[in-house]
Amino acid sequence: MIHIKTNQEIEVMRKSALLVSATHTEVAKMLRPGITTLSIDKMAETFIRDNGGVPSFKGYNGFRYTLCISVNEVVVHGFPGAYELKDGDIISVDCGVYMNGYHGDSAYTFAIGNVQPEVLQLLRVTRDSVFKGAEQAHDNNRVGDISYAVEQYCSKLHPYGVVRDLVGHGIGKKLHEDPQVPNYGRRGDGKRLKEGMVLAIEPMINLGTREVYTLDDGWTVVTKDGKASAHFEHTVAVRKNRGETLSSFVDIEAAERANPELNSSHYDAPATVTEM
Ligand code: MG
Ligand code: MG
Repeated sequence: MIHIKTNQEIEVMRKSALLVSATHTEVAKMLRPGITTLSIDKMAETFIRDNGGVPSFKGYNGFRYTLCISVNEVVVHGFPGAYELKDGDIISVDCGVYMNGYHGDSAYTFAIGNVQPEVLQLLRVTRDSVFKGAEQAHDNNRVGDISYAVEQYCSKLHPYGVVRDLVGHGIGKKLHEDPQVPNYGRRGDGKRLKEGMVLAIEPMINLGTREVYTLDDGWTVVTKDGKASAHFEHTVAVRKNRGETLSSFVDIEAAERANPELNSSHYDAPATVTEM
């Protein structure tokens, strides 16, 4: 069942989503070679709780951490741990916050130092595809219009693998609500969108094959060919003419640019899509 939110509920959700974004901003400030992914997770949990939220993922189906941290060929749902980041890594950070009865959910992929240009381009395209999808999140469109926009943007000009085994989702009082929001599909297919629906749009895009598999730990999803994967996500409210992003990348990107250990050169090219 799809829950339509009132404007008042959406304002509450915006606070949860923006605390997720603020958490990513703190992550952006601390990233550097040599830091363990577990220390990033611990900082994030403290930051979220200090700001009145609860980590949405901790305890979710037995997940033990605040963040999903997915390095290089890990697509999503990686465990924070003893791994120390190194020059040339990319790190996808997925975060959810529950506050005042509602969840926010957003993901961002960072590049540490000397990352290959083809991988940097993957990050840029994946990030921008979130906004291409969000543009379609308007009244009377269908879920397939979002899916199609994301897939076309990622795969039309690039030989990328658009992951099909994992999808975006509705979000609200529960972290995962109806409808599912695939990153592939056909225009005009799927559930009709209505103003007040809130969706997590989250393309997972691979440098190589779209095929993925899950490790024996039951969570960690990796690319079948071992090539890099990027993941960006926004919580988006369906509005009359275009989706409205409730989470924001603006402060994350500023922190990314200010951190000399991070590579943000892929954002030097002019933006073709913007937050709304
Ligand atoms: Mg997420
Ligand atoms: Mg999500």
